[in-house]
Amino acid sequence: PDADGKYTVTMIPGDGIGPEIAASVQSIYKAADVPIRWESVDVTPSLINGKTTLPADAVASINKNLVALKGPLATPVGKGHQSMNLTLRRTFALFANVRPCKSVQGYKTPYENVDTVLIRENTEGEYSGIEHEIVPGVVQSIKLITKPASERVIRYAFEYAKSVNKPEVRVVHKASIMKLSDGLFVETAKEVAQEYPDVKLTFELLDNTSLKLCSDPSEYKSLVMVMPNLYGDIMSDLSSGLIGGLGLTPSGNMGDKVSIFEAVHGSAPDIAGKGLANPTALLLSSCMMLRHIGLNSYADQIENAVLKTIASGPENRTRDLKGSSSTGHFTEQVIKNL
Ligand code: NAD
Repeated sequence: PDADGKYTVTMIPGDGIGPEIAASVQSIYKAADVPIRWESVDVTPSLINGKTTLPADAVASINKNLVALKGPLATPVGKGHQSMNLTLRRTFALFANVRPCKSVQGYKTPYENVDTVLIRENTEGEYSGIEHEIVPGVVQSIKLITKPASERVIRYAFEYAKSVNKPEVRVVHKASIMKLSDGLFVETAKEVAQEYPDVKLTFELLDNTSLKLCSDPSEYKSLVMVMPNLYGDIMSDLSSGLIGGLGLTPSGNMGDKVSIFEAVHGSAPDIAGKGLANPTALLLSSCMMLRHIGLNSYADQIENAVLKTIASGPENRTRDLKGSSSTGHFTEQVIKNL
Protein backbone atom coordinates (compact mmCIF):
# COMPACT_ATOMS: atom_id res chain seq x y z
CA PRO A 1 0.00 0.00 0.00
CA ASP A 2 0.91 3.68 -0.33
CA ALA A 3 1.75 5.78 2.73
CA ASP A 4 -1.96 6.49 3.34
CA GLY A 5 -2.79 2.77 3.42
CA LYS A 6 -4.42 2.78 -0.01
CA TYR A 7 -3.44 0.60 -2.95
CA THR A 8 -3.15 2.25 -6.36
CA VAL A 9 -4.63 0.10 -9.12
CA THR A 10 -4.60 0.82 -12.86
CA MET A 11 -8.11 0.99 -14.31
CA ILE A 12 -8.61 0.34 -18.03
CA PRO A 13 -12.31 1.20 -18.55
CA GLY A 14 -12.18 -0.07 -22.14
CA ASP A 15 -14.59 0.40 -25.03
CA GLY A 16 -18.35 0.14 -25.59
CA ILE A 17 -20.04 -0.64 -22.25
CA GLY A 18 -16.61 -0.56 -20.54
CA PRO A 19 -16.90 2.98 -19.12
CA GLU A 20 -20.43 2.26 -17.78
CA ILE A 21 -19.47 -0.92 -15.93
CA ALA A 22 -16.19 0.64 -14.72
CA ALA A 23 -18.18 3.56 -13.26
CA SER A 24 -20.45 1.08 -11.49
CA VAL A 25 -17.44 -0.66 -9.91
CA GLN A 26 -15.97 2.67 -8.84
CA SER A 27 -19.15 3.90 -7.16
CA ILE A 28 -19.61 0.60 -5.29
CA TYR A 29 -15.97 0.74 -4.12
CA LYS A 30 -16.47 4.29 -2.95
CA ALA A 31 -19.60 3.33 -0.99
CA ALA A 32 -17.80 0.35 0.59
CA ASP A 33 -14.81 2.56 1.39
CA VAL A 34 -12.39 0.09 -0.22
CA PRO A 35 -8.80 1.35 0.17
CA ILE A 36 -8.17 1.44 -3.58
CA ARG A 37 -7.08 4.47 -5.58
CA TRP A 38 -7.86 4.13 -9.30
CA GLU A 39 -5.44 5.34 -11.94
CA SER A 40 -7.42 5.36 -15.19
CA VAL A 41 -5.52 4.83 -18.43
CA ASP A 42 -6.46 4.57 -22.07
CA VAL A 43 -4.96 1.67 -24.00
CA THR A 44 -6.07 2.61 -27.51
CA PRO A 45 -3.27 1.03 -29.53
CA SER A 46 -1.25 2.51 -32.33
CA LEU A 47 0.63 0.74 -35.08
CA ILE A 48 4.35 1.39 -34.72
CA ASN A 49 6.55 -0.22 -37.39
CA GLY A 50 3.66 -2.54 -38.22
CA LYS A 51 3.32 -3.73 -34.60
CA THR A 52 0.31 -3.13 -32.36
CA THR A 53 1.73 -0.98 -29.56
CA LEU A 54 0.26 0.16 -26.25
CA PRO A 55 0.53 3.82 -25.15
CA ALA A 56 3.67 4.31 -23.05
CA ASP A 57 1.84 5.88 -20.08
CA ALA A 58 -0.53 2.89 -19.84
CA VAL A 59 2.43 0.49 -19.81
CA ALA A 60 4.21 2.65 -17.21
CA SER A 61 1.11 2.76 -14.98
CA ILE A 62 0.66 -1.03 -15.04
CA ASN A 63 4.37 -1.66 -14.44
CA LYS A 64 4.27 0.71 -11.46
CA ASN A 65 1.04 -0.53 -9.86
CA LEU A 66 1.45 -4.24 -10.82
CA VAL A 67 -2.32 -4.76 -10.63
CA ALA A 68 -4.93 -3.61 -13.15
CA LEU A 69 -8.69 -3.99 -13.63
CA LYS A 70 -9.74 -4.05 -17.26
CA GLY A 71 -13.03 -3.58 -19.07
CA PRO A 72 -13.61 -5.04 -22.54
CA LEU A 73 -11.56 -3.81 -25.49
CA ALA A 74 -12.90 -3.75 -29.03
CA THR A 75 -10.33 -5.28 -31.35
CA PRO A 76 -9.65 -2.60 -33.97
CA VAL A 77 -10.80 -3.62 -37.40
CA GLY A 78 -8.11 -3.09 -39.98
CA LYS A 79 -5.12 -4.80 -41.41
CA GLY A 80 -2.14 -5.41 -39.20
CA HIS A 81 -3.84 -4.91 -35.81
CA GLN A 82 -3.35 -7.74 -33.38
CA SER A 83 -5.93 -8.46 -30.68
CA MET A 84 -5.38 -6.00 -27.83
CA ASN A 85 -5.87 -8.76 -25.31
CA LEU A 86 -3.04 -10.73 -26.91
CA THR A 87 -0.89 -7.58 -26.90
CA LEU A 88 -1.52 -7.05 -23.18
CA ARG A 89 -0.74 -10.71 -22.37
CA ARG A 90 2.51 -10.56 -24.34
CA THR A 91 3.58 -7.13 -23.02
CA PHE A 92 3.22 -8.16 -19.38
CA ALA A 93 3.99 -11.91 -19.72
CA LEU A 94 0.61 -12.89 -18.27
CA PHE A 95 1.16 -16.63 -18.55
CA ALA A 96 -1.87 -18.02 -16.70
CA ASN A 97 -5.53 -17.22 -17.21
CA VAL A 98 -7.64 -18.17 -14.20
CA ARG A 99 -11.37 -18.62 -14.67
CA PRO A 100 -13.45 -19.67 -11.66
CA CYS A 101 -17.11 -20.49 -12.40
CA LYS A 102 -19.43 -20.65 -9.43
CA SER A 103 -23.24 -20.94 -9.59
CA VAL A 104 -25.00 -17.69 -8.82
CA GLN A 105 -27.79 -18.47 -6.34
CA GLY A 106 -31.06 -17.05 -7.54
CA TYR A 107 -30.12 -17.29 -11.20
CA LYS A 108 -31.34 -20.68 -12.31
CA THR A 109 -29.34 -22.78 -14.76
CA PRO A 110 -29.60 -26.53 -15.51
CA TYR A 111 -27.07 -27.33 -12.76
CA GLU A 112 -26.96 -25.94 -9.24
CA ASN A 113 -23.79 -25.69 -7.17
CA VAL A 114 -21.33 -25.55 -10.07
CA ASP A 115 -17.91 -24.65 -8.69
CA THR A 116 -15.11 -25.12 -11.22
CA VAL A 117 -11.71 -23.49 -11.66
CA LEU A 118 -9.89 -23.62 -14.96
CA ILE A 119 -6.33 -22.42 -15.54
CA ARG A 120 -5.37 -21.83 -19.15
CA GLU A 121 -1.84 -21.51 -20.53
CA ASN A 122 -1.96 -18.01 -21.95
CA THR A 123 1.13 -17.48 -24.10
CA GLU A 124 1.77 -20.25 -26.62
CA GLY A 125 0.22 -23.46 -27.95
CA GLU A 126 -2.06 -22.95 -30.93
CA TYR A 127 -2.02 -19.15 -30.34
CA SER A 128 1.65 -18.68 -31.10
CA GLY A 129 0.74 -17.07 -34.42
CA ILE A 130 3.07 -19.24 -36.50
CA GLU A 131 1.13 -19.90 -39.69
CA HIS A 132 2.22 -20.05 -43.32
CA GLU A 133 1.10 -21.15 -46.73
CA ILE A 134 3.24 -23.92 -48.14
CA VAL A 135 1.65 -23.87 -51.60
CA PRO A 136 -1.75 -22.38 -52.56
CA GLY A 137 -4.41 -24.51 -50.92
CA VAL A 138 -2.07 -25.88 -48.25
CA VAL A 139 -1.39 -23.99 -45.03
CA GLN A 140 0.47 -24.98 -41.94
CA SER A 141 -0.24 -23.70 -38.41
CA ILE A 142 2.23 -24.61 -35.73
CA LYS A 143 1.29 -25.42 -32.15
CA LEU A 144 4.25 -24.51 -30.00
CA ILE A 145 4.61 -26.11 -26.56
CA THR A 146 7.69 -25.39 -24.46
CA LYS A 147 8.76 -26.90 -21.19
CA PRO A 148 9.35 -23.55 -19.39
CA ALA A 149 5.87 -22.20 -20.27
CA SER A 150 4.22 -25.51 -19.38
CA GLU A 151 6.13 -25.66 -16.11
CA ARG A 152 5.17 -22.17 -14.94
CA VAL A 153 1.44 -22.56 -15.66
CA ILE A 154 1.34 -26.03 -14.07
CA ARG A 155 3.23 -24.79 -11.01
CA TYR A 156 0.75 -21.89 -10.82
CA ALA A 157 -2.12 -24.44 -10.88
CA PHE A 158 -0.61 -26.35 -7.94
CA GLU A 159 -0.07 -23.15 -5.97
CA TYR A 160 -3.63 -22.03 -6.74
CA ALA A 161 -5.06 -25.41 -5.66
CA LYS A 162 -3.20 -25.13 -2.35
CA SER A 163 -4.37 -21.55 -1.80
CA VAL A 164 -8.05 -22.44 -2.23
CA ASN A 165 -7.80 -25.83 -0.47
CA LYS A 166 -8.61 -27.97 -3.50
CA PRO A 167 -6.90 -31.35 -3.13
CA GLU A 168 -6.37 -32.16 -6.83
CA VAL A 169 -4.91 -30.74 -10.03
CA ARG A 170 -6.23 -32.25 -13.24
CA VAL A 171 -4.31 -31.87 -16.50
CA VAL A 172 -6.66 -31.81 -19.49
CA HIS A 173 -4.89 -32.82 -22.71
CA LYS A 174 -4.93 -34.81 -25.93
CA ALA A 175 -1.58 -36.54 -25.65
CA SER A 176 -3.18 -39.66 -27.10
CA ILE A 177 -3.03 -37.90 -30.50
CA MET A 178 -0.55 -35.04 -29.99
CA LYS A 179 2.04 -37.26 -28.44
CA LEU A 180 4.97 -34.86 -28.50
CA SER A 181 3.35 -31.47 -27.74
CA ASP A 182 0.65 -32.45 -25.24
CA GLY A 183 2.97 -35.25 -24.20
CA LEU A 184 5.50 -32.65 -23.03
CA PHE A 185 2.76 -30.81 -21.09
CA VAL A 186 1.76 -34.09 -19.38
CA GLU A 187 5.35 -35.13 -18.58
CA THR A 188 6.12 -31.66 -17.21
CA ALA A 189 3.10 -31.94 -14.90
CA LYS A 190 4.43 -35.23 -13.52
CA GLU A 191 7.75 -33.54 -12.74
CA VAL A 192 6.21 -30.46 -11.11
CA ALA A 193 3.86 -32.66 -9.05
CA GLN A 194 6.85 -34.09 -7.17
CA GLU A 195 7.19 -30.71 -5.45
CA TYR A 196 3.56 -30.96 -4.23
CA PRO A 197 3.14 -34.33 -2.52
CA ASP A 198 -0.06 -33.14 -0.77
CA VAL A 199 -1.89 -32.37 -4.02
CA LYS A 200 -3.16 -35.24 -6.16
CA LEU A 201 -2.35 -35.11 -9.88
CA THR A 202 -4.78 -36.63 -12.38
CA PHE A 203 -5.06 -36.59 -16.18
CA GLU A 204 -8.08 -36.52 -18.46
CA LEU A 205 -8.56 -36.42 -22.22
CA LEU A 206 -10.15 -33.20 -23.46
CA ASP A 207 -13.11 -34.91 -25.14
CA ASN A 208 -13.87 -36.82 -21.97
CA THR A 209 -13.71 -33.61 -19.89
CA SER A 210 -16.15 -31.91 -22.30
CA LEU A 211 -18.61 -34.77 -22.00
CA LYS A 212 -18.35 -34.98 -18.21
CA LEU A 213 -18.39 -31.24 -17.48
CA CYS A 214 -21.69 -30.71 -19.27
CA SER A 215 -23.34 -33.92 -18.08
CA ASP A 216 -22.38 -33.70 -14.38
CA PRO A 217 -20.03 -30.91 -13.28
CA SER A 218 -20.12 -31.92 -9.58
CA GLU A 219 -16.91 -34.00 -9.84
CA TYR A 220 -14.96 -30.83 -10.74
CA LYS A 221 -15.74 -29.06 -7.47
CA SER A 222 -12.78 -30.51 -5.67
CA LEU A 223 -10.11 -29.93 -8.30
CA VAL A 224 -8.34 -27.32 -10.41
CA MET A 225 -8.09 -27.95 -14.17
CA VAL A 226 -5.01 -26.84 -16.10
CA MET A 227 -4.56 -27.10 -19.86
CA PRO A 228 -2.86 -25.74 -23.00
CA ASN A 229 -4.07 -22.49 -24.58
CA LEU A 230 -6.75 -23.46 -27.14
CA TYR A 231 -8.35 -26.11 -24.95
CA GLY A 232 -8.46 -23.59 -22.10
CA ASP A 233 -10.06 -20.95 -24.30
CA ILE A 234 -12.89 -23.27 -25.32
CA MET A 235 -13.38 -25.09 -22.03
CA SER A 236 -13.47 -21.84 -20.03
CA ASP A 237 -16.42 -20.59 -22.09
CA LEU A 238 -18.10 -23.98 -21.69
CA SER A 239 -17.66 -23.60 -17.91
CA SER A 240 -19.15 -20.07 -18.07
CA GLY A 241 -22.16 -21.49 -19.86
CA LEU A 242 -22.79 -23.79 -16.90
CA ILE A 243 -23.38 -20.82 -14.57
CA GLY A 244 -25.34 -18.57 -16.92
CA GLY A 245 -22.91 -17.03 -19.38
CA LEU A 246 -20.10 -14.57 -19.84
CA GLY A 247 -21.95 -11.71 -18.12
CA LEU A 248 -21.38 -13.47 -14.77
CA THR A 249 -17.84 -14.75 -15.19
CA PRO A 250 -14.71 -13.14 -13.76
CA SER A 251 -11.14 -13.85 -14.77
CA GLY A 252 -7.56 -13.04 -13.91
CA ASN A 253 -4.51 -12.93 -16.17
CA MET A 254 -1.53 -13.69 -13.98
CA GLY A 255 2.18 -13.10 -14.52
CA ASP A 256 5.18 -13.25 -12.23
CA LYS A 257 4.97 -9.50 -11.63
CA VAL A 258 1.82 -8.04 -13.14
CA SER A 259 -1.80 -9.28 -12.88
CA ILE A 260 -4.70 -7.98 -14.94
CA PHE A 261 -8.25 -8.87 -13.88
CA GLU A 262 -10.98 -8.61 -16.49
CA ALA A 263 -14.54 -9.39 -17.41
CA VAL A 264 -14.48 -12.04 -20.12
CA HIS A 265 -17.28 -10.59 -22.22
CA GLY A 266 -16.74 -8.10 -25.06
CA SER A 267 -17.62 -4.41 -25.44
CA ALA A 268 -21.29 -5.13 -26.29
CA PRO A 269 -21.61 -2.37 -28.94
CA ASP A 270 -25.32 -3.21 -29.37
CA ILE A 271 -26.18 -1.86 -25.89
CA ALA A 272 -23.33 0.59 -25.27
CA GLY A 273 -24.35 3.97 -23.87
CA LYS A 274 -27.90 2.83 -23.07
CA GLY A 275 -27.48 2.09 -19.36
CA LEU A 276 -28.34 -1.60 -19.86
CA ALA A 277 -24.99 -3.26 -19.22
CA ASN A 278 -24.52 -5.79 -16.45
CA PRO A 279 -21.47 -4.88 -14.34
CA THR A 280 -21.43 -8.24 -12.50
CA ALA A 281 -18.51 -9.85 -14.39
CA LEU A 282 -16.29 -6.81 -13.86
CA LEU A 283 -17.38 -6.59 -10.20
CA LEU A 284 -16.58 -10.27 -9.58
CA SER A 285 -13.25 -9.83 -11.42
CA SER A 286 -12.52 -6.93 -9.09
CA CYS A 287 -13.24 -9.25 -6.11
CA MET A 288 -10.61 -11.68 -7.47
CA MET A 289 -8.31 -8.67 -7.63
CA LEU A 290 -9.03 -7.70 -4.02
CA ARG A 291 -8.25 -11.24 -2.85
CA HIS A 292 -5.01 -11.17 -4.85
CA ILE A 293 -4.04 -7.96 -3.04
CA GLY A 294 -5.08 -9.47 0.30
CA LEU A 295 -8.20 -7.34 0.88
CA ASN A 296 -10.35 -10.44 1.38
CA SER A 297 -12.99 -8.96 3.66
CA TYR A 298 -13.83 -6.21 1.12
CA ALA A 299 -13.98 -8.89 -1.60
CA ASP A 300 -16.45 -10.95 0.47
CA GLN A 301 -18.56 -7.89 1.28
CA ILE A 302 -18.88 -6.79 -2.37
CA GLU A 303 -19.36 -10.31 -3.74
CA ASN A 304 -22.12 -11.03 -1.23
CA ALA A 305 -23.87 -7.75 -2.07
CA VAL A 306 -23.73 -8.52 -5.81
CA LEU A 307 -25.07 -12.06 -5.36
CA LYS A 308 -27.79 -10.87 -2.98
CA THR A 309 -28.88 -8.26 -5.53
CA ILE A 310 -29.08 -10.80 -8.36
CA ALA A 311 -31.03 -13.21 -6.14
CA SER A 312 -33.47 -10.49 -5.04
CA GLY A 313 -35.62 -10.69 -8.17
CA PRO A 314 -35.90 -9.75 -11.85
CA GLU A 315 -36.59 -6.08 -11.08
CA ASN A 316 -33.04 -5.85 -9.74
CA ARG A 317 -31.40 -7.83 -12.52
CA THR A 318 -30.20 -6.51 -15.87
CA ARG A 319 -31.78 -7.59 -19.15
CA ASP A 320 -29.13 -10.19 -20.01
CA LEU A 321 -30.26 -12.04 -16.82
CA LYS A 322 -33.91 -11.83 -17.88
CA GLY A 323 -34.50 -8.80 -15.67
CA SER A 324 -35.58 -5.20 -16.18
CA SER A 325 -32.99 -3.23 -14.21
CA SER A 326 -30.72 -0.55 -15.60
CA THR A 327 -27.00 -0.48 -14.78
CA GLY A 328 -27.65 2.47 -12.46
CA HIS A 329 -30.49 0.79 -10.53
CA PHE A 330 -28.48 -2.44 -10.16
CA THR A 331 -25.53 -0.43 -8.83
CA GLU A 332 -27.75 1.34 -6.27
CA GLN A 333 -29.14 -2.00 -5.08
CA VAL A 334 -25.65 -3.46 -4.65
CA ILE A 335 -24.69 -0.41 -2.57
CA LYS A 336 -27.82 -0.92 -0.41
CA ASN A 337 -26.85 -4.58 0.08
CA LEU A 338 -23.24 -3.90 1.09
P1 NAD B 1 -19.84 -9.24 -26.68
O1 NAD B 1 -19.47 -10.05 -25.49
O2 NAD B 1 -19.43 -7.82 -26.68
O3 NAD B 1 -21.41 -9.30 -26.89
C1 NAD B 1 -22.16 -10.51 -27.07
C2 NAD B 1 -23.60 -10.30 -26.55
O4 NAD B 1 -23.59 -10.30 -25.12
C3 NAD B 1 -24.22 -8.96 -26.98
O5 NAD B 1 -25.58 -9.15 -27.23
C4 NAD B 1 -24.03 -8.08 -25.75
O6 NAD B 1 -25.01 -7.07 -25.63
C5 NAD B 1 -24.11 -9.09 -24.61
N1 NAD B 1 -23.29 -8.68 -23.44
C6 NAD B 1 -21.95 -8.82 -23.31
N2 NAD B 1 -21.55 -8.32 -22.13
C7 NAD B 1 -22.65 -7.88 -21.50
C8 NAD B 1 -22.89 -7.24 -20.23
N3 NAD B 1 -21.90 -6.98 -19.35
N4 NAD B 1 -24.14 -6.90 -19.91
C9 NAD B 1 -25.17 -7.15 -20.75
N5 NAD B 1 -25.01 -7.74 -21.95
C10 NAD B 1 -23.76 -8.10 -22.33
O7 NAD B 1 -19.21 -9.98 -27.95
P2 NAD B 1 -19.03 -9.47 -29.46
O8 NAD B 1 -20.24 -8.68 -29.89
O9 NAD B 1 -18.64 -10.66 -30.22
O10 NAD B 1 -17.78 -8.50 -29.43
C11 NAD B 1 -17.85 -7.08 -29.42
C12 NAD B 1 -16.44 -6.47 -29.34
O11 NAD B 1 -15.83 -6.89 -28.11
C13 NAD B 1 -15.49 -6.90 -30.44
O12 NAD B 1 -14.71 -5.78 -30.85
C14 NAD B 1 -14.59 -7.94 -29.79
O13 NAD B 1 -13.31 -7.97 -30.37
C15 NAD B 1 -14.52 -7.42 -28.38
N6 NAD B 1 -14.22 -8.46 -27.35
C16 NAD B 1 -13.40 -8.10 -26.34
C17 NAD B 1 -13.15 -9.00 -25.31
C18 NAD B 1 -12.23 -8.56 -24.20
O14 NAD B 1 -11.82 -7.43 -24.15
N7 NAD B 1 -11.91 -9.44 -23.26
C19 NAD B 1 -13.74 -10.25 -25.30
C20 NAD B 1 -14.63 -10.59 -26.34
C21 NAD B 1 -14.87 -9.68 -27.35
